[in-house]
Amino acid sequence: MRKLISIIIPTYNEAENIPFIHNDIKNIFKNIPYRCEMIFVNDGSFDKTQEILKNLAGKDRQIKYLEFSRNFGKEMATTAGINRCKGDACLMIDADLQHPVKLIPKFIEKWEAGAETVIGIRRENNGEGIVKRFGSFLFYKFMNSVGETKIIPNATDFRLIDRKIVNEFNKFTEGNRITRGLLDWLGFKKDFVYFKANKRMRGKAGYNPCKLFGLTVDTLVGHSLFLLKLVGKLGVVIVLISGFLGIFIFIEKYILNDPLRLNFSGPAILAVIILFLIGIVLVCLGLIALYIGNIQNEVANRPLYVISKFKV
Ligand code: UDP
Ligand code: MG
Repeated sequence: MRKLISIIIPTYNEAENIPFIHNDIKNIFKNIPYRCEMIFVNDGSFDKTQEILKNLAGKDRQIKYLEFSRNFGKEMATTAGINRCKGDACLMIDADLQHPVKLIPKFIEKWEAGAETVIGIRRENNGEGIVKRFGSFLFYKFMNSVGETKIIPNATDFRLIDRKIVNEFNKFTEGNRITRGLLDWLGFKKDFVYFKANKRMRGKAGYNPCKLFGLTVDTLVGHSLFLLKLVGKLGVVIVLISGFLGIFIFIEKYILNDPLRLNFSGPAILAVIILFLIGIVLVCLGLIALYIGNIQNEVANRPLYVISKFKV
């Protein structure tokens, strides 16, 4: 029996693209000795996506489709697809043809050569504005300096994962998730396929800068307590500065009787005291971050470890 490759395609208002990507994938699988199932996840589209998928699925048994009750976002759409795929390997690809379908055999080749996850790395992106590119640059820089798991720059969701990883991925229960972040966390043997992203042919990108910013904040909150810890560190700095200042004022004014003639006023002294107290509050917030970190780890309930090979 030929191996089965599951292709997962999240779709949000992609009515115009679906026939093309379907056709391209069909053509690719005509020439390689693998079977394929295409899992389209309709992420609450309000165009004709549903109608078109229903139509295609009626004609082609390789198509499966899931219908979300509303828009849950691409991360949930890919998750739903991965949860339901049956393949020996599973490949995620965007519906808008920005990920070159003709590279699918290359992903499979690297997988057959032993890679358990094959990641598409984007070389250049012609169609994207400077804001988006700068945004993604900042995103990776930031995530890699604060997050607990390293994210490979320019790695995309265009990737193939082995059945083993699918099974491990399905154990995740956390709600606030970035699919590729979780896949990176899982580890396993990686290989890469480099590609130049095409321009989006038809339709509009579902992610605008606002939605992307939201996604970044989600990732930050979900993958690290950086922000809360930062507040705590700020508190430490404020406590130290205002503490030294307070001691200085006390000694200079009340013990040495103002030899420098600085003449600190009452409000100035009050300000230093208040600053000190604010610093203490911030330090406490930082401490709370440590506790929340523990709770977050427990609640996310990730597997304690992931086994890639087992021999007794
Ligand atoms: N997408 C989705 N839900 C959303 C937004 C996008 O399923 O809420 C799908 C979309 O149909 C496409 C893929 O995710 O297949 C990538 O979306 P888009 O092209 O908007 O993102 P970009 O290429 O800018 O990363
Ligand atoms: Mg796109």
